[in-house]
Amino acid sequence: MNTEFNAVICRYHEIAIKGANRRMFEQKMIDNLKYLLRTIDDIKVKRIRGRIWIQHPDNEAFSAEELDIVHKQMKKAFGLESYSPVILCKPDMQELEQAVEKSCTAYFDALYEKQPCVSFRIRARRSDKNFPLASRDIEIALARVVGGKYDYDALRIDLEDSAEITVGCEVREEFAFIYYGSYRCPGGLPVGSNSPVLALLSGGIDSPVACYMLMKRGCHVDYVTFHSDPYTPPETTDKVRRMGLKLNEFQQDGRLFSCNLAAIQKLIRDNCRPEFRTVLYRRMMLRIAQMIAEKNGNMALLTGDSVGQVASQTIINMATIDSAADMLVLRPLVGIDKNEAVNIAREIGTFELSSEQVPDSCTVFAPKSPSTRAPLDKVLEEEQLLGDWQTVLEKIVATANIY
Ligand code: ATP
Ligand code: MG
Repeated sequence: MNTEFNAVICRYHEIAIKGANRRMFEQKMIDNLKYLLRTIDDIKVKRIRGRIWIQHPDNEAFSAEELDIVHKQMKKAFGLESYSPVILCKPDMQELEQAVEKSCTAYFDALYEKQPCVSFRIRARRSDKNFPLASRDIEIALARVVGGKYDYDALRIDLEDSAEITVGCEVREEFAFIYYGSYRCPGGLPVGSNSPVLALLSGGIDSPVACYMLMKRGCHVDYVTFHSDPYTPPETTDKVRRMGLKLNEFQQDGRLFSCNLAAIQKLIRDNCRPEFRTVLYRRMMLRIAQMIAEKNGNMALLTGDSVGQVASQTIINMATIDSAADMLVLRPLVGIDKNEAVNIAREIGTFELSSEQVPDSCTVFAPKSPSTRAPLDKVLEEEQLLGDWQTVLEKIVATANIY
């Protein structure tokens, strides 16, 4: 709407950023913002006293297109609470008045197109106590600037949140700025501020949501997916590759490992009870994932499991599957309903891609009625019948494609 904004101020809760780790958190946030805003030329991101600032090198104003990019990308800036595009100027009353004078009409005129009267307030803060005017006086002076531009009847001062326009002003020792409202960021923690994890990523709805949830808690996420070539088509992997790229919009460079499960699936089909196949596949998937995670430096595994959703997700089966891995397995969706997962998937933009119908590797040689109770002792007996499955898994890992 207004193209005079020459900086963006980003706010985060300092209390969420604990003691000695604070610098690391802030640096991650800066790196992540540079990545999110990489399509804006010459973008500068720096920290000044508990805030992060985004600017062009010479304080040049952002174009409307650049501000659109900011609005779109800040929704993915984990660790931040809110941001505001601002007009940065000297800590000088005349400059502040000019900034309001030039910028306010865009906001007020947009409302006058629909209504005869607009309510507004000015909220000023002064951290430089030597500035000649107190906060209250700054507010009065800036309200006069607005008052000078419109009829008396067309303006109403409203000091509450109900004001239709809030003009913010902050005066610091080195600089001052004007802004119009704050926009929400997702909160959470900056990606990279916690240990990296490896997600078992299918083409479904849940696992991409699980990835998003862990990224939001500060974990960088790599992915492993399983296909069953030639029993599944190339589209199976292609869909997950596109999902990986989509999820990498929230973080830098998540790697995708694509593994062909067919060899172990055939072994299971030929040797084990059909009703246990799904659970046996899942145990093998976890083992393969753990092998990759250990090589790749991921400290935990991540799945989109939710209790009771499908046969492999009963408590008994989940316990049996879980015991195949020695590594922590994170299941952030464990207690949520499908429709809640769908809502998150829609919000983060993965739902449409998840809805594309392609065959899943789990359904290859799937029995008509998979067991919902596959106790560990029975499943271990079945695995005894597989012979040297370890070598088969090693080969699967060695031949994984990495994207
Ligand atoms: P999703 O929507 O994530 O596929 P789902 O509700 O369909 O989950 P399942 O298909 O039983 O449930 O899968 C449970 C979890 O197992 C998935 O969330 C995912 O983490 C993992 N998983 C299943 N299939 C695959 C696969 N082909 N490749 C990688 N991981 C998989
Ligand atoms: Mg699935």
